[in-house]
Amino acid sequence: MSKVVQQAPEYIRSISPYIPGKPISELAREMGLREQDIVKLASNENPLGASPKALEAAQRAISEIHRYPDGNGFELRAALVKKFGVAPEQIVLGNGSNDLLNLCAAAYLNHETSAVFSQHAFAVYPLAVKSAGAHGIEVPAREFGHDLPAMLAAIRPDTRIVFIANPNNPTGNFLPAVEIEAFLDAAPDDVLVVLDEAYNEYLEPEQRYDSVAWLEKYPNLVITRTFSKIYGLGGLRVGYGLARAELADLLNRVREPFNVNNVALAAAAAALGDEAFVARSYAVNRDGMAQIIAGLKALGLEYIPSSGNFLTFRVGDAATINRKLLEQGVIVRPIASYQMPEWLRVTIGLPAENERFLGALAKALGRA
Ligand SMILES: *Cc1c(COP(=O)(O)O)cnc(C)c1O
Repeated sequence: MSKVVQQAPEYIRSISPYIPGKPISELAREMGLREQDIVKLASNENPLGASPKALEAAQRAISEIHRYPDGNGFELRAALVKKFGVAPEQIVLGNGSNDLLNLCAAAYLNHETSAVFSQHAFAVYPLAVKSAGAHGIEVPAREFGHDLPAMLAAIRPDTRIVFIANPNNPTGNFLPAVEIEAFLDAAPDDVLVVLDEAYNEYLEPEQRYDSVAWLEKYPNLVITRTFSKIYGLGGLRVGYGLARAELADLLNRVREPFNVNNVALAAAAAALGDEAFVARSYAVNRDGMAQIIAGLKALGLEYIPSSGNFLTFRVGDAATINRKLLEQGVIVRPIASYQMPEWLRVTIGLPAENERFLGALAKALGRA
């Protein structure tokens, strides 16, 4: 190891890198397959693509890429204000909602502090915490989901952030609003609670809750959402945080001045207004979820009921099954790095993609 690499703090050198879903082009190269023959159901992307309105807006914005973006994101902010009834000062825009998680860590954490998150929760929480040199407290999951009472009990005097994903990725678990409210009521009000709602738009009508209204009551709450999932803009990297104005101001101080590019800003504002596309995406997901569940049941496989656009199921030797799926041009997500070496996560695709996946899975299991 070179001296300069050794100079980096141990907490940085010991970070295990995030493992993304395998890109289609990479598998095509590795297996000698044609890209159009590959089905990627690995990164919780929208199988319908992006909203046509977002694509149009992005195309228009392309002609302005020699300009710096609007650092305040006026247009997108205005669209969010209209949608959620919050003040413009309550919004923090991010280069993906991942950026928001890092902003929270940058604003609150250092080597003298700690942050709480759940076992099997989104991998970016421990990454953000470690990058800031803080201590991560991982609380054992309950039936693969967050054990909020245990997370509450895990808060120490040096704890500055609690991360809650609802629904959680990669397990899909949903926390009913009453449980989150009980947590917010009981949590110390000087601890930041990050409520990560990346899959909020996929909740069933009876699961939906008004977390934005909670901002009135809880000055320590920040809600994060993304345009990467139901809005289909993962490649553009745009997300947002909602909080009380004072807290949003704090997070904006550690934000890069031009963290969201102008194409992303324009596309996101247009996507937010395309409610028909969101409704169609929701319906495709609901039907595809039923299709995949039926297929997994027919194969006798255990799965975790999911409130997102993905499903996690148990195959035993997941590494081998994953390899056999890749050989057939089907990319799903192994989640051994989430302490779930016997499980795979599949993103809900279009009907034909789901069919391809189920057929390949049957073959991989030797049941075709
Ligand atoms: C995908 C995801 C995000 C963020 O994705 P961005 O593309 O950075 O917006 C955040 N939280 C969870 C739980 C996710 O699954």
